[in-house]
Amino acid sequence: MADLQDLYQEVIFDHNRHPRNYRKLPDANHKLEGYNPLCGDKITLYLKVADGVIQDVAFEGSGCAISTASASLMTESVKGKRVEEAEALYEGMHRMLTGGTEPANLGKLAVLSGVRSYPTRVKCATLAWHTLHGALKDSAEPVSTE
Ligand code: ZN
Repeated sequence: MADLQDLYQEVIFDHNRHPRNYRKLPDANHKLEGYNPLCGDKITLYLKVADGVIQDVAFEGSGCAISTASASLMTESVKGKRVEEAEALYEGMHRMLTGGTEPANLGKLAVLSGVRSYPTRVKCATLAWHTLHGALKDSAEPVSTE
């Protein structure tokens, strides 16, 4: 597991320092806020969905390195995907991070499984995914991990 832990640290560090898709999205047609009260992480997620495809995705927020990196990785992996594919990734990530099943078909997202060594930080990693799921469902309420 040492290699995965090293890779995990490296990816978190990189995406936290240089978050991808960190901006507002003025023409978003789905927007949702998410909070992780346990750690104080907050994100605002913007999605532009057309013809069942996530054409563009962006986020803003403030939080710990894991929440920022996880949101950055999430935006990178769902951009250009069909809504059902993004939901399948959400399910897969949720299972991997909370259920302890080994990641399958998650590609580079599998490095986030490293967070399982830090159980108190799991919600930091799932926040962006719960917010994605809520935004796609047009949830009226902000998402909370609690
Ligand atoms: Zn956090």
